[in-house]
Amino acid sequence: MLITCPYCGPRDVIEFTYQGDGNRQRPQPSSQDLDAWNAYVYDRLNPAGDHNEIWQHSGGCRAHLRVVRNTLTHEISSSGFARGDHKAAARHKSEAKS
Ligand SMILES: [Zn+2]
Repeated sequence: MLITCPYCGPRDVIEFTYQGDGNRQRPQPSSQDLDAWNAYVYDRLNPAGDHNEIWQHSGGCRAHLRVVRNTLTHEISSSGFARGDHKAAARHKSEAKS
């Protein structure tokens, strides 16, 4: 599986570390809403299809990336910086290799 880093270009998945579900919304630090904190800490999506994920290019530039990966085929439909200009995200079709 190849992931395209906006800095480094297409790289093998072995250079990256999975950082978790990219859909979680952290409550405000001062929030007293225990249900919101419980959902943030424990609830995870487990979709069969496209999944929004955070990956770190730990074997390269160390940037955090937001990647949309199909959990059935491992096809990556988009990748870009986890923060910042999402319009600059690299879009590509990768080979579904593991
Ligand atoms: Zn990189």
